[in-house]
Amino acid sequence: MAHIGIVGGGIIGCATALHLLDRGHQVTIIERDAGGLPASVGNAGILAIPEIDPIASPGMLLSVPRWLLDPLGPLALRWGDMPAMLPWLMKLLRSSSPATVERSRATLAFLMKSAAADQTALARIAGISGHLRQGGALTVFDTETARDKAFARASENARLLGGFGIDKLDAAESRRRVPALSGNFAGAIYNDGYQTFEYPLTFLRRLQAVLRERATFIDAAASMLTWGEQGITVRTEAQNNHLFDKAVVAAGIWSRPLVERMGLHVLLETERGYNTTFVNPTVTLEMPVFFSEHGFVATPFENMLRVGGAVELARPETAANYARAAAMRRKMRRYVPDLPEEGGTEWMGRRPSTPDSIPVIGLHPGDARIAFAFGHGHLGLTLAATTGRHVADLFAGAAGAELEPFSIRRFQ
Ligand SMILES: Cc1cc2nc3c(=O)[nH]c(=O)nc-3n(C[C@H](O)[C@H](O)[C@H](O)COP(=O)(O)OP(=O)(O)OC[C@H]3O[C@@H](n4cnc5c(N)ncnc54)[C@H](O)[C@@H]3O)c2cc1C
Repeated sequence: MAHIGIVGGGIIGCATALHLLDRGHQVTIIERDAGGLPASVGNAGILAIPEIDPIASPGMLLSVPRWLLDPLGPLALRWGDMPAMLPWLMKLLRSSSPATVERSRATLAFLMKSAAADQTALARIAGISGHLRQGGALTVFDTETARDKAFARASENARLLGGFGIDKLDAAESRRRVPALSGNFAGAIYNDGYQTFEYPLTFLRRLQAVLRERATFIDAAASMLTWGEQGITVRTEAQNNHLFDKAVVAAGIWSRPLVERMGLHVLLETERGYNTTFVNPTVTLEMPVFFSEHGFVATPFENMLRVGGAVELARPETAANYARAAAMRRKMRRYVPDLPEEGGTEWMGRRPSTPDSIPVIGLHPGDARIAFAFGHGHLGLTLAATTGRHVADLFAGAAGAELEPFSIRRFQ
């Protein structure tokens, strides 16, 4: 059995650590900000198994210019960051051809098909329960035409994934299921394939607490990985060296500089999302409600309601623009007039995204003792358990050819 170092203690690093421990390895996690609030703690908290459509789509070229005119709309670009992001944007455009979209969809479906079972296995390994709630989700639409088009797509995706219960609803039936939706809209789709996590922060902290007992945490920022006969060395910014038999890079958006310092290339940029969390809200929902035409979602947690999402393409260090969180609250009041516009806590998180929406899960092409596990974009919470299992299989030499599309080789 090996001693394996994992750079990054977000949801991907923690799920991977638990799978490796379960296979009998010794694990050390190097995390520079264990009490921090990265993407893994502030997300919408949804196990989004039905979502297998990549962000690039054939219709994208028609919608993007309209979206970009609105700096608070579903998609915004920080223009000053555009030159740095150009290679990623160009690849995003190339990924929107119908053939590439279909390939990405099938590739994501391969991961999603086992996501529910992998979550169950992860909970067993961690010894936790009660963290996931069944109950599906609603997606509301402003027009019946948009709802019907989305219904056809959702039905096709459900078939590809092995079947979920999907209902096409008018506005009255939607309000019967979620009474707070008293504003104007044309109808909705109910999909029982979605589940909701207890609360992303609580879930991650529970996994981290288990790992503090079974693994070692090093409070440090990794600056580079080097390899030699003796093993893989993770050097920290404080110039300390930690030697392992094997190592995993699972540092979210910050994986890119670590990969580049190993001489590899990757197209990984930040799709930032903003949200607002209301504690003890005066209004709540019976299940998550997606406002897909406006790019955001509202998720009810035990005594909280979180409203947000959308996409802002910007470099990780560019200053946040919380007006985007306020814009989503305002938009939601059209559907849920009782939602307070002020009073919640705003947050911004960085989705680590590849232009083809396919995460990087694979071994270093030049050294099979190093694995990559990052680039999960909008779906890292959903895919963490699956990713962890695949990384453990890769190290065991037990991974199949199905993992080839996830390799970092595609960017070399
Ligand atoms: C608004 C929003 C809503 C979302 N909703 C959902 C959802 O409902 N369902 C879903 O499945 N996904 C959702 N996501 C996506 C999901 O949150 C991310 O894909 C996932 O959290 C990425 O996890 P990660 O562990 O790769 O990265 P992170 O959460 O960013 O964690 C990376 C960790 O690595 C550490 N680190 C970085 N660099 C170093 C270094 N050099 N040395 C040591 N440590 C380092 C960081 O401190 C951090 O703790 C959402 C994201 C956003 C922004």
